[in-house]
Amino acid sequence: MKNNYDVVVIGAGPAGAIASSRLLQAGLSVLVIEKMEFPRFVIGESLLPQCMNYLEKADLLDCVKDLKSQVKSGVVFYHENERCDFLFKDKYTEGWDYTYQVKRAEFDHALIKEVEKKGANVTFKSEVTDVKTSKESQFVYYTDGEGVKHEINCRFVIDASGYGRVLPRLFDLEIPSDLTSRGAIFTHLVDDKRTDQAAENIFVNAFNNNSAWVWSIPFSDGTSSVGVVGNDEFIKEISEDSGDKFQEIVRTFPGLDGRYAESKFLFEPKTILGYSIGIKQLHGEGFVLCGNSTEFLDPIFSSGVMFALASGSEAADLVVKELSGEKVDWDKEYDEFLLHGVSVFRSYVDAWYNGNLHTIIFEEDGQEDFKRQICSVLAGYVWDMSNPFVKKHKNLLKTLAKVIEIR
Ligand SMILES: Cc1cc2nc3c(=O)[nH]c(=O)nc-3n(C[C@H](O)[C@H](O)[C@H](O)COP(=O)(O)OP(=O)(O)OC[C@H]3O[C@@H](n4cnc5c(N)ncnc54)[C@H](O)[C@@H]3O)c2cc1C
Repeated sequence: MKNNYDVVVIGAGPAGAIASSRLLQAGLSVLVIEKMEFPRFVIGESLLPQCMNYLEKADLLDCVKDLKSQVKSGVVFYHENERCDFLFKDKYTEGWDYTYQVKRAEFDHALIKEVEKKGANVTFKSEVTDVKTSKESQFVYYTDGEGVKHEINCRFVIDASGYGRVLPRLFDLEIPSDLTSRGAIFTHLVDDKRTDQAAENIFVNAFNNNSAWVWSIPFSDGTSSVGVVGNDEFIKEISEDSGDKFQEIVRTFPGLDGRYAESKFLFEPKTILGYSIGIKQLHGEGFVLCGNSTEFLDPIFSSGVMFALASGSEAADLVVKELSGEKVDWDKEYDEFLLHGVSVFRSYVDAWYNGNLHTIIFEEDGQEDFKRQICSVLAGYVWDMSNPFVKKHKNLLKTLAKVIEIR
């Protein structure tokens, strides 16, 4: 394998795959270095319609469609015996109105295989151990599956290493998140008793006074992903004894009429604690971070893969611009773009856990316009500034919840 590339991409998840595809479309040479062997399990299975725009632009949509994954046309929230359905076809912003629920092992594998076909060199079972960046050129060091060490010279490094957070750790860029430390426990199970609409779309039930929630994400092969999110103490408690309490929560899932009461669990539940994290900077000389290597807020609105695709795509386009000799204002063109999207979702995450969002969406006389505009955010259209629920996200949710409570 050669040791000189235009760009090295660390990580072959969705952020790394889409970044690579955009770079290849621009004629650059790309090496993707991936620690694991693919296909590999990762959590994050419910996509947003906005993902489709990015996949299409990067010419990666066909390989995703070929997977014949479960079509996702909306989201169902459930709370204290009330149900609220959002259908993406009713959303305010124009654009894709459906997406998929995917097994990430299959989805991520399909993307990176397609990128390999398009001309990227991909080395699996290869762990990046060090990176040196400067104005002139960059060096990436990795150890392959045989234990052989490599030094690669390149013009730019894209860190798409997800929870591995290679550059944030090496360059000391991590900061603690100011969100409550939360975790999750999850598994897949046999789902052979599907009935109504919730048979297809992600179904979320909030409980424990909105401090915890349980998800059901059906797949096209008759299995589902189920998981519980809550503060770290609660997740530790329900994970004890091989997750007995977790099983009980799943088997009595409110709103699903005993659908999972007898279901077989397909693997021992996995636990992740303290997943939220912050970051000091998103770029520097010769490098940029994208996907989960940057901020990760919370899984409640399934925005993780959308941000991975959006940031990977935008980062790659700016790398192309810079390597072609044009000046890039990274603060404005990258940070501002990405952090705007993150801050919109941040308002919705806050409103979910403090109950304001429940007050709004479960309001019986809720105005259809509001619902359509919120639906756009739930579909991932967080850069549509014509939507008041995007533009004024910080205050609108608070104010509206207050008005409804006073009524
Ligand atoms: C409980 C929970 C539920 C979630 N649910 C959803 C959901 O429903 N929908 C959604 O969109 N998102 C969800 N997410 C978020 C989602 O998991 C992530 O946002 C998404 O996987 C990020 O993609 P990525 O490409 O940035 O990183 P990843 O998919 O994590 O890929 C990064 C890759 O980098 C590789 N890597 C790491 N270190 C190194 C190294 N040193 N050298 C080489 N390679 C390395 C890893 O092996 C990995 O393959 C959820 C997250 C949690 C915690």
